Amino acid sequence: MTAPAVPRRLLPLLTAEQIGELKPELADVIEYRKSGLSVNHIVGCPLECGYCVRHVFDNFAMKTPKRLMTDEAAVAALVGHRYFRLHKTPIQLFNRATDPMLPVVKPHLFAVLRMLDEKGLTNHVLVITRWRVSAEDCAVLNSFQNLRLTVLVTHSGIDNPAIEPVNSSIAADSLRMLFEHAERYKTLLYWRPIVPGLNDSDEHIERARELSLHAHATVFTGLFFRDQMAAYYEEHGLPMPYDSTARRKIMPEHAERRILDAFDAARVTGAAPWGTLFRKTSCGVAYPHGEADYNGHYGIRELCDICPPEQIALCAGAWVKPELEEVTREARGLARSAPLRSTTVPSSSRDWTSHPATTYSTGSATSATTEPSPTTTASTAEPPSAGRRRTDPTPNDLPHLARTARCRRRRQRHHPARPR
Ligand code: SF4
Repeated sequence: MTAPAVPRRLLPLLTAEQIGELKPELADVIEYRKSGLSVNHIVGCPLECGYCVRHVFDNFAMKTPKRLMTDEAAVAALVGHRYFRLHKTPIQLFNRATDPMLPVVKPHLFAVLRMLDEKGLTNHVLVITRWRVSAEDCAVLNSFQNLRLTVLVTHSGIDNPAIEPVNSSIAADSLRMLFEHAERYKTLLYWRPIVPGLNDSDEHIERARELSLHAHATVFTGLFFRDQMAAYYEEHGLPMPYDSTARRKIMPEHAERRILDAFDAARVTGAAPWGTLFRKTSCGVAYPHGEADYNGHYGIRELCDICPPEQIALCAGAWVKPELEEVTREARGLARSAPLRSTTVPSSSRDWTSHPATTYSTGSATSATTEPSPTTTASTAEPPSAGRRRTDPTPNDLPHLARTARCRRRRQRHHPARPR
C-alpha cells in the first residue's frame, strides 16, 4: 500500500511568555532518559488518564495540544544533542506530554519521522499511543525506509472511567490494526499500568493475554505513583492503589506471578513458557527487531528469566564488560564530576549512549549501567547482585537462569510480597 499524503494543519506555537510559565523540565524539548532521548515539542492532551505523568509537571489541566517549537527545530535539537549518536541512540517521540496519534498531533509525528528517515538514520524510534490507528496510518508507518520503528500500544484494561476515561477497546483495536498491517515497523502490547484491585483480575489478565497474540511482543509494567498523582487521586475521591508513593514503577510480585502463570498455562506447544512477554521496554522493542536488548538489562539477570531462550543467547553474545581505562576515558569525556561507583557491574550490548548521571558510554557506543534501575517489582527492586562483579555469561548460564526462576517462583508462592 502506498503511503497516503498527510494533510498538515499545524498546531499553534506557544509564545515565549507561555513557555516561561511551564515547568522548566516540560519546556525542555529533548529529554535524556535512561533508555534514550525523548522528543517532546508538543504539550497538552485531552485524554485525561488519571495516572498521567503530566501531573508531575503540573500540566494536567492543559487539554489542547500546542507546540513549543517547529518540527524542524525539534529534529535539529535532537540530532545536535550532545548525547545523540547516529544510528544508535533510541528515540522516543511525544511520550511525555501528549499522545502522538491524536488527530492534531499525528501530522507532526509523521513529519518528524519523515525528516529522521530522510536523513538515513537507522536509530530505534519508539512511538507510544493509546489512541486510534487507522489502516492509512499503518501505510504511513510502513513507508519509512531506514528507521527501526516500533509502535507501542498502551492498554491497561482499567474499567474505572474516573481513572481511565479512554475505553481500552480503542487501544485494543489499534493494536490489532497495527499488527495486521505491519510490514516495516513492529508493534507491541504495552500492558500498563497494572494496578492491584483495578486491572489484575483473572479476566483482565486473560484479556491481555489474548491481545498479546496480536503483537510482536508484550511488555508489562506497574504504576508510577508519585506524590502529585496521589494528590490527584485523593482530590477526586479515587481508590488509592498504594499507601505510599515511589520513585519508580510499582509492580507487585503477586500480580506478576499470576500473569506469568496465566501466560505459561496457555503456552503453545514448543514455544517459550511465557511467549514473548518482557519486563523491560527496551527488551520488548529489541526482540522483534532480532536484536539484543540495547539497554543492557542482561547485566541484571533476574529480569531475564522469562525471556525466550534464543533472546537470552542473543543478549549474552552482545554483553560486554568495558575496560576500566575505556570507562575512565569516556567518563572524563562526559565531564563527569562525581567518582565512578564501579566498573565491574552489569554491562551491556554495544548500542546506546548514555548520561553521566546514571550511566556512561564509550565513543564506540558501548554502554555500561553503573546503577541498575529495574522496574520496581519486589523481586527486582534491589537485584541481589547489583553492584557486584558477575562472571562473563556463557551458554551454561541458561540452566542456571531457569533454576533461579524456579526457586524464585517457589519463594513467591510461600512468601507473597506486598506492594512497595
Ligand atoms: S535476555 Fe534479558 S536483557 Fe535480553 S531481552 Fe531478555 S530480559 Fe532483556
